[in-house]
Amino acid sequence: MSLEALPSLREALEAHGLWAKKAFGQHFLLDLNVTRKIARLAEVGEGDHVIEVGPGPGGLTRALLETGAKVTAVEKDERFRPLLQEVADAAPNLTLMFGDALKADEAQIAAGRPAHLVSNLPYNVGTPLLIKWLTGPWTPASLTLMFQREVADRITEGPGGAAYGRLGVIVQATCAARRVLDAPARAFTPPPKVDSAVVRLEPRADRPAPERLEALQRITAAAFGQRRKMLRSSLKPMGGEELIAAAGLDPTARAEVISVDGFLALADAWLAGRSASQDPYPMPLSGVKD
Ligand code: SAM
Repeated sequence: MSLEALPSLREALEAHGLWAKKAFGQHFLLDLNVTRKIARLAEVGEGDHVIEVGPGPGGLTRALLETGAKVTAVEKDERFRPLLQEVADAAPNLTLMFGDALKADEAQIAAGRPAHLVSNLPYNVGTPLLIKWLTGPWTPASLTLMFQREVADRITEGPGGAAYGRLGVIVQATCAARRVLDAPARAFTPPPKVDSAVVRLEPRADRPAPERLEALQRITAAAFGQRRKMLRSSLKPMGGEELIAAAGLDPTARAEVISVDGFLALADAWLAGRSASQDPYPMPLSGVKD
């Protein structure tokens, strides 16, 4: 059977007795026009390798396969195995993997070649997956990802914007980030409570080294942990006024107006101060939530 001869996504779901499970963050895109649009925005084609997280019923997977790209799809929900196997039988360029994408070894999947990430992400693990892909040891060639609109805003907004925060600083320090498509809640089955948007991320050639990224995570955790306070107060445990002066910033400014370059300067000043004093400021690394 070929891809075109497959039953519609609704028919396939019905034939396999499948329905969306909230615990897996399942909201499906069943309109192939929408999934084809996302595949076009991903700018992938013949010869490219795509890693798709959460294929579910396979709507986005089908659109990606149509481009001629080689797709490796990682799905946590075992219920989808027979349905997805039918897609794999119709498309030799699809490889299926079942398990938790948070634990997946993308470097091993990519096998030394560039790979693009494309996903309509499950809401409950979208942000931890993004942080893993941007700060982990493996770097994707590009990322085209559907998020809740509010998360997409946090990823793409710059200083001064209401949604600007820790997530945006880390994403924008590592990637060029653009919101490329808005998707209303009604585009999904079942519709979620909120609208969504697709974000396109292109990793920067001058991506900060791991040590610098870790320092950036610590600085942004302290600065945005108390976002209403002036930097001299929120960054006191990390060096306060001295650190801020070394970064060339105003100690009375608040985190929300500091640019990504400003935060990188703070991270550099903190690293320089730490190596000078040999004192590893003992601040625990916490998860990026805002
Ligand atoms: N790609 C499909 C679409 O666009 O219709 C489904 C998208 S749905 C929002 C998210 C998908 O991710 C579901 O299939 C869900 O089972 C899967 N998923 C949830 N958590 C996952 C995880 N930790 N690892 C891999 N897949 C996961």
